[in-house]
Amino acid sequence: MIKSKQLKRPQLVLIVDDQEINRDVLGMILEDDYEIIYASNGREALQMIEEKRDRLSVVLLDLIMPEMDGFKVLDCVRNDELLKSIPIIVLTAERNAELRALEMGAADFITKPFDMHEVILARVGRIIELSEGRQLIQAAEFDPLTKLYSRNFFFEYANRIHQYHPQWHMDAVVVNIEQFHSVNALNGREFGDRVLAAIGEEIRDFLAETEGIASRFEADRFDIYCQQHGDYRALLEQVQDRVNALSNKASIRLRMGVAPWREGLEPVVLFDSAGAACSMVRGNYKTRLMVYDEEMHQRELMNQRLMNDLRRAVDDKELTVYYQPKYNVQCDPPRLSSAEALIRWNHPELGMVSPGSFIPLFENNGQISTVDNYVWDEAARQVAEWRQKLGVVLPVSVNLSRVDVFDPTLEDRLEGLIERYGLDHSALKLEVTESAYTDNAEQMIERISRLRARGFEIEMDDFGSGYSSLNMLSYMPIDVLKMDMQFVRNIAQSEKDFRLVQLVLDIAKYLKVPVVAEGVETEQQLDMLKGAGCDLVQGYYFSRPLPPEAFEELIIKEKQIERENKT
Ligand code: C2E
Ligand code: MG
Ligand code: MG
Repeated sequence: MIKSKQLKRPQLVLIVDDQEINRDVLGMILEDDYEIIYASNGREALQMIEEKRDRLSVVLLDLIMPEMDGFKVLDCVRNDELLKSIPIIVLTAERNAELRALEMGAADFITKPFDMHEVILARVGRIIELSEGRQLIQAAEFDPLTKLYSRNFFFEYANRIHQYHPQWHMDAVVVNIEQFHSVNALNGREFGDRVLAAIGEEIRDFLAETEGIASRFEADRFDIYCQQHGDYRALLEQVQDRVNALSNKASIRLRMGVAPWREGLEPVVLFDSAGAACSMVRGNYKTRLMVYDEEMHQRELMNQRLMNDLRRAVDDKELTVYYQPKYNVQCDPPRLSSAEALIRWNHPELGMVSPGSFIPLFENNGQISTVDNYVWDEAARQVAEWRQKLGVVLPVSVNLSRVDVFDPTLEDRLEGLIERYGLDHSALKLEVTESAYTDNAEQMIERISRLRARGFEIEMDDFGSGYSSLNMLSYMPIDVLKMDMQFVRNIAQSEKDFRLVQLVLDIAKYLKVPVVAEGVETEQQLDMLKGAGCDLVQGYYFSRPLPPEAFEELIIKEKQIERENKT
């Protein structure tokens, strides 16, 4: 007790009584533990309560007084938003008055004449404790900036609505600010706060018309749980207009995700879905609003499943590496020159899952390095096995994700493989997609240069799908350009497309690197590419990606053809 008194300012108690003796007695009882101020009538008391409202812990109030009695004071305090949380203990000698006072909202009563000092001290102490606890709860209940519920309270109330009013069809709506950190960085935090407050206000206006509750958390995410409402686009526009009105300089874009009510779904699940829908809008300049639907639901389930199953897939060898040949087409007949390692997932329940549906997923959640490490190791092992078995070193390219490139252990890992399988660096080529370069050019160039310095060859994958400028290209460390499949697809039908292919070949010539054309499916495409000077070709025309055993046969066959051609 003594300790806490020294640490913080004592709580303030107002004693209101017209009898000086009563004020003195109470003052004496409480003065060791509290700071005391006094009033001798209701009018004076009310004035002091207003002045000290932020500090006042409790009021001890006599009921029968001249000028303004205690009942009137109680009435005024209870009906004032700013004062009503201050607890009042009434001082009375009359049984009836006591009851009336409690009915009017007094927190407790003390009977006159005062005896038992310990009882009085204990009552005052308990009432203060109770009211401080309640104020703490009130503070935590609301976000002070937007006056919307804080996270925990929001979900507590949402769960109650869900539980006690199952007949209400409540939707989950998430509103988010695009790149809020830049809004803060460019316009200052104070402006950022004004944006948040404005959104909060607009949402509260909306809720005044529609049954529901709302919350703000994680800085710029607003969750709204409201009775099904047809036009969320209108709500989004309304909020966006309100934000636009704050400044004509700052451009702030909102996005919205909606998960419509579904029988039995708990709020937290519904909000997960709304959040997922909202993040799908991110960076999308056409749509600002996304509604979570069955297709998204199925995709999420599928993604979840793949993420869960990856560990098992590695352990149980569900992942296998296929190989697709690349042919040098500038010799006659075309000659097998290398291969690309491509992952395949043979899932026990889902069958063959295409890398297109799990690679981007694992790139996002970081699991990609598990996949890639597996593929690199397997590819390096395979090159060594073929060398030993067939007497040829057939270089294999592996794909690197941008996540891999920024992994500080990358160099050591690749170097470890080269050593373990006794390979030349040129036997394990690295494909890096063009867009990875354009996202973070400088750092990328630095990392890739280090790999090249060790002797690894770098192929720029999907060239033409990113946004490299010619200037950038000229100092990008690359050994081969792999032209994106889109270029090849229509060269036979569209002269414009063919001219684009010629352009890519010119760029490669300027950079002094060979070009691989991907996705070549027909003889006509092959002939055109060959005629235009393309060096290497990969595609179904020659072969689909093959399992290792089938690819081994292909190597043997190619070797035989080579031998025959020599003799
Ligand atoms: P990519 O590296 O550009 O690989 C070429 C893709 O084109 C492969 O698809 C291949 O099967 C396909 N393809 C080859 N020839 C033809 C053709 O003539 N016509 C058509 N329509 N397609 C052809 P796949 O195997 O489905 O792989 C898709 C993408 O997934 C790859 O594109 C690559 O970016 C990624 N990927 C595959 N394996 C791995 C891996 O082990 N690690 C990483 N990080 N990414 C991988
Ligand atoms: Mg590739
Ligand atoms: Mg490619």
